[in-house]
Amino acid sequence: MNIYAFIPFIAGVFSLEAGLYILIKAAKNYPLRLPYFFASLCVFCYCFFNFGLIQFAGYDDIMTVWMKVFGPGAFFVIPALFNLMLFVGEQRKGAVKFVFLISCVLGLSALLYRIKTIPVQFVYFPWGNAISVTNIPYTIFFLNASICLPTGILLSYFQRDRICKTGLVKRQMNFILFGVLFANLSIFFDLLPAFGVNLYHMGSPLLATVFISLICSIASYRLLELDLLLNKALFTILFIAPLILIHFIISSFFLQSSGVFLTTAFSLVIISSILLFTPYKLKIQRLVDKIVYRGRYDYQKILQEVCQSLVSMLDLDQLLDSVVHIIVQTMNVEKVAIFLEEEEKHIYQVKAAYGFDETLKEKLSLNNNATILERLRKDNRILVREELRQFEEGEEINVLFKTLDLIDAELIAPLFFKERLLGFIALSHKKTRHIYNQGDIDVLNAFSAEASVAIENARLYGEAIIDGLTRVFHHNYFYMRLKEEMARTKRYGNPIVLLMIDIDHFKSFNDSYGHQAGDSILKNIGQMLKTKLRNVDIAARYGGEEFAVILPGAGEKEKHAPAEIIRQHIQDALLVAERLRKVASEIEINLMGKMTHITISIGIAYYDGVDEKFTAAELVKRADVALYRAKREGRNRVVFYSDRLEAVDDQNSYEDKQY
Ligand code: GH3
Ligand code: MG
Ligand code: MG
Repeated sequence: MNIYAFIPFIAGVFSLEAGLYILIKAAKNYPLRLPYFFASLCVFCYCFFNFGLIQFAGYDDIMTVWMKVFGPGAFFVIPALFNLMLFVGEQRKGAVKFVFLISCVLGLSALLYRIKTIPVQFVYFPWGNAISVTNIPYTIFFLNASICLPTGILLSYFQRDRICKTGLVKRQMNFILFGVLFANLSIFFDLLPAFGVNLYHMGSPLLATVFISLICSIASYRLLELDLLLNKALFTILFIAPLILIHFIISSFFLQSSGVFLTTAFSLVIISSILLFTPYKLKIQRLVDKIVYRGRYDYQKILQEVCQSLVSMLDLDQLLDSVVHIIVQTMNVEKVAIFLEEEEKHIYQVKAAYGFDETLKEKLSLNNNATILERLRKDNRILVREELRQFEEGEEINVLFKTLDLIDAELIAPLFFKERLLGFIALSHKKTRHIYNQGDIDVLNAFSAEASVAIENARLYGEAIIDGLTRVFHHNYFYMRLKEEMARTKRYGNPIVLLMIDIDHFKSFNDSYGHQAGDSILKNIGQMLKTKLRNVDIAARYGGEEFAVILPGAGEKEKHAPAEIIRQHIQDALLVAERLRKVASEIEINLMGKMTHITISIGIAYYDGVDEKFTAAELVKRADVALYRAKREGRNRVVFYSDRLEAVDDQNSYEDKQY
């Protein structure tokens, strides 16, 4: 037995598995499945022929063996050519396509001939023997390879910018050009001996490069799930090899004494009983799974942990930022944008992004019925720009591409919750300059499913704590946050200030213009609070037409802030309140065609954390007392709470009167 024979054997098995896989799995959406299948079939036959040569005809020179493994790389030139043609053929006309067509037909016929004449050919193969130029088809093949192929490569190279719309396609194109160029060079070295130059062996490493490069091209077109392919091939090899070994061992012991028939029968019995009575197959499969999928398992574990932390994130903005961050890290891309549905406006808008400049971010929004959204709803899967370009034509696809250009996306992952399209993630510009592979898509698929749940979760939570009319927080959430902030004040001493805001003469607006007009005023005030306050401030609708605002102090991290800091914070709060009052009085509200102004009154109270028993309700009451005083003093003003006020107003606080 010659162990070298297993090298082409393994290569053959891989090739056949790949061919079958392409034929079956890529059948639905890949036009090049037949040439690829044909090529792998050729490789398979060639490899098995070589297996026989080495095993039985005594070819055991290691260089010859390697050549016989890498030689089949040449067969991949044909599908690669088809591939190249597909890109070039985007224009559907021209000399380029013609050159390639001729090139392929000639190449194919020569290859077929070569296969037929292999037993003759290998006589020429050992170093030093010139190839006969009288072997016409072979010569045509080589001439074709050295004239047509370089022409095609050059033409496609110079037309790259016109053919390739995105950086990604360009990189794929480079990839294929590179592969074909090397194939061509290696064939060229084959031709040299005919002119008396003996550099024949230089062809082998070049062919090896082609082989590897083109395998990578198959991977990047996502024709195959390489893991699965590896799994199947490894399984076949590990499954068959020990059985063959057993047969050889049995033969070496019994062949001479018992003859071929008995030995074969004996080894068949042994092999069948191993297969029937042991978990042989299962064990091999487990072993292979472990080898092939280990990396993926680790990766899935990381992803799982990340996703768990996502679901517990309730702040939507923070959640979206994390999602963007995770995608940038795991997928290695330079641009990511998350679009979410804005139900009232019937649009999908960017809610978080990375790599886009700020002004562009605001402009990016899509109509509810944009083609791309319809497409995502229909297909319910990740859209890959390249695939769309390769497999589809027509008006719809042009519209789709316009949108993709607008949002600069190479990959779009939908975010579905149940049947509803919540939004989508768009990414582009892979940093490593690699092409998205099936692994990337699997990861993105799993991740976007988890992210959808987390986003819906955060949304529902947002709805639960936000007042539908004014879009500021609810009363309950306000109390929860007030208690939290007060606890923090007790611990760290950073003072907090509370504003109670009430719209002046609101009832009369309601009475004269109706409740809808009143609602519109409330909406305006809510909007004002959201835009005019800092992010850390908490604005809420306390009830009816009353609002509350918590202004937390800057964290001092030391027990009880000095009086100076408290005074400063109160002064700042007074300025904030005064500004709110002024802005409110300037808002123009259209009530039944009449432009009207409103005013607000504000009561302020603060807490410095010294009195540990002081409660949230008491703080609210103090702000209310101040508010009542503001009303009594003529409205449209800001009043700061002091003990003196309470003494005057203790019998009838504003809150008591209202509730
Ligand atoms: P002032 O505060 O200046 O003393 O006078 P006011 O007219 O605003 O008096 P008050 O605060 O007592 O009036 C509250 C009114 O707000 C009563 C109710 O009709 C109205 N209101 C409460 N909630 C809503 C709401 O959700 N929508 C509308 N349109 N009106 C509301
Ligand atoms: Mg009022
Ligand atoms: Mg009121």
